[in-house]
Amino acid sequence: DPMVRIRNLRKSYGATPVLRGIDLDVAAGEVTCVIGPSGSGKSTLLRCINHLEKIDSGYVEVNGELIGYRRRGDKLYELKDKVIARQRAGIGMVFQNFNLFAHMTVLENIIEAPMAVRGKPRDEAVEMARELVRRVGLAGREDAYPRQLSGGQQQRIAIARALAMEPEVMLFDEPTSALDPELVGEVLEVMKDLARRGMTMIVVTHEMSFAREAADKMVFMDGGLIVESGPPEEILRAP
Ligand code: ADP
Ligand code: ADP
Repeated sequence: DPMVRIRNLRKSYGATPVLRGIDLDVAAGEVTCVIGPSGSGKSTLLRCINHLEKIDSGYVEVNGELIGYRRRGDKLYELKDKVIARQRAGIGMVFQNFNLFAHMTVLENIIEAPMAVRGKPRDEAVEMARELVRRVGLAGREDAYPRQLSGGQQQRIAIARALAMEPEVMLFDEPTSALDPELVGEVLEVMKDLARRGMTMIVVTHEMSFAREAADKMVFMDGGLIVESGPPEEILRAP
């Protein structure tokens, strides 16, 4: 079974269809890069996968578990917030704009969710956070506040924060788009390291060099549909 299975996913905002029947499988340990023009629904797709958005029809499964809903007969009923929060904790998400808590240090940002959502004891959460800070190359900055870090450093901490929940899948929504060009590489290196370690990843990105190097599969979206998919050497071949 794939780690992520999406079938006939449809989503509208009011009368405007934004996802018009998405089918996608992502195998465990594989990296899928999603490309396509602005407004094609890439961000909405990610937000539906972890149920930041309700979906109109179809379904998303992660590791065999239906996300956001339970089935009863042929109908779907939305799960309770608490259950959704538990599911979402297993799906890491990294946004364009880092979304760190400004009033918390690096370490506090990383330990907050494991303690609050997973009930992890503080000393265990701190130990794991220190290891993750080291992994993203920021050992020594545990007590810094986000504003004291560069955008690239903040984004690496945002990745560490998502990893602290020990997710089965990581979703990246244009993680380098808000960065100065010279800071893009350090974030992509962390993502490549994650891919090499076998993380299942879905990455919306304009970074074709990353896609060429790290993607097992690429999907090209247009108008709320996947119009092409395949290995990067196929999708990115010169016209
Ligand atoms: P992409 O990530 O490919 O740029 P999005 O998923 O952000 O595309 O958006 C797809 C379409 O859905 C766009 O036309 C956008 O304006 C619209 N859209 C996104 N979010 C909302 C929302 N919360 N309410 C209404 N329309 C939205
Ligand atoms: P991106 O395309 O980079 O994902 P956008 O700038 O399209 O981001 O959207 C930023 C935020 O505004 C998102 O939360 C999105 O859901 C919301 N949004 C986008 N388009 C609309 C819209 N037409 N009406 C309401 N909210 C929207």
